[in-house]
Amino acid sequence: MPTRRKFLSSSAAGLATLAVSPAAAAISLPPAPVVGKPLVISTWDTGLAANAGAWKVLSKGGRALDAVEAGVMVTEASQNCCVGLGGNPDREGIVTLDACIMDEQFNCGSVAALERIKHPISVARRVMERTPHVMLVGEGAQQFAVAQGFPLEPQKLSPDAEKAYQEWLKTSQYKPVVNIENSGTRTPGPVGGANNHDTIAMLAQDAQGRLSGSCTTSGMGFKMRGRLGDSPLIGSGLFVDNAVGAAAATGQGEDVIRIAGAHTVVELMRQGMTPKAACKAAVERIAKIKGDKARTIQVCFIAINAQGQHGAFALQKGFSYAVCDAQNQQQLLQADFLLL
Ligand code: ASP
Repeated sequence: MPTRRKFLSSSAAGLATLAVSPAAAAISLPPAPVVGKPLVISTWDTGLAANAGAWKVLSKGGRALDAVEAGVMVTEASQNCCVGLGGNPDREGIVTLDACIMDEQFNCGSVAALERIKHPISVARRVMERTPHVMLVGEGAQQFAVAQGFPLEPQKLSPDAEKAYQEWLKTSQYKPVVNIENSGTRTPGPVGGANNHDTIAMLAQDAQGRLSGSCTTSGMGFKMRGRLGDSPLIGSGLFVDNAVGAAAATGQGEDVIRIAGAHTVVELMRQGMTPKAACKAAVERIAKIKGDKARTIQVCFIAINAQGQHGAFALQKGFSYAVCDAQNQQQLLQADFLLL
């Protein structure tokens, strides 16, 4: 017996077939049904709390863009997490934050290397809505944030980050740890992934079928000063095309950038792949480029398509992602992975 989800998918396929036949051309057809909406998915164990924040917006019929901002703000504000100002610093001992946001109409905004601001995702949204630009970095991003009324927080490491930094200084070696990335000596989470992961990416589809995405990070811990990863880069860390789907990345940013990861996943969905197959194909592309070095890194993608299907795939074991929709409520899933 077909599940409700399968039934709706095949109904959608049926409508698509009718829509291209000449006999049906004159008939005004209803839009294809959307299966999971509203729907929100996000990366790592911390995605559970973030999804709950996003769900408050989505369940009231709110806009996906508002949901993806509100959702990751929960993580940015958490003291127990490496996202936001509680994150690990660069090798000079300074926390620098990157974030980006994109809506259903290709509007997008981004900040990078932003210091002393609690909610970089909200500054990214202001860049999108109140400037002629897409991206502001460093001092200019901070100036803009202050001019917009965001308070400057003290330049101070959290106790956990201070401890991790002091530990790191003993060797001063840049060696990201698979699935932990930024956490250094911090404790991994209880559910297989890393509770203290440094990045959260979130994708949502609202009740009206609008897609949006957000991504926010303190970047790789103990990175070189000035280093940017994929997370603030539209097309690498995040991409949304409302007609096709949305995708986001986490893991070794340099390798996501090499293939313009999130954009690649969306383009693969445009060619007809499911979200999971598209994420897998992007991971395979990175694995091929890396060759023997693939085992030293982690890269992970999440995606949703315009029909409300979702999927994820990782290079290595240990990538958890959280899903919340009206049918299943909250779930934490372990993504399939390439390297056994
Ligand atoms: N992608 C992030 C970066 O490279 C880190 C991560 O997701 O772990 O900065």
